[in-house]
Amino acid sequence: MEKSRTQADPFRELTWGDLTVWVGQAAVTAGRRMQKNGAVKRLVKTPDGGLLAWVQAEETFAAHVGFEDGELYCRCACHSEDACEHGVAVILEYIAHLKKNVPVPITASNDQRFYLL
Ligand SMILES: [Zn+2]
Repeated sequence: MEKSRTQADPFRELTWGDLTVWVGQAAVTAGRRMQKNGAVKRLVKTPDGGLLAWVQAEETFAAHVGFEDGELYCRCACHSEDACEHGVAVILEYIAHLKKNVPVPITASNDQRFYLL
């Protein structure tokens, strides 16, 4: 099977290397730890193919990640200027769902969390 980024779910194709280039090693490590500790709650897909979830860190943040013109973006209630570890945790939780074949529901465009970002 040929792998291609043009297929329907670009998150499925992400590698540790991609994430490290995106946010840096420290944020990847922190995000991975959060995801393993179960910090990501109520993960959903957004109507435009992104992901949205609560991430319990020092506070609970709403985090939204997605692709725009093939580039990953992260909008997070922690208001980091760049992509943050919360976005990484959301992506890793989604990949964990894929691996376990756990369906991720699609949320409505008026999900309350959008208003926090
Ligand atoms: Zn954040």
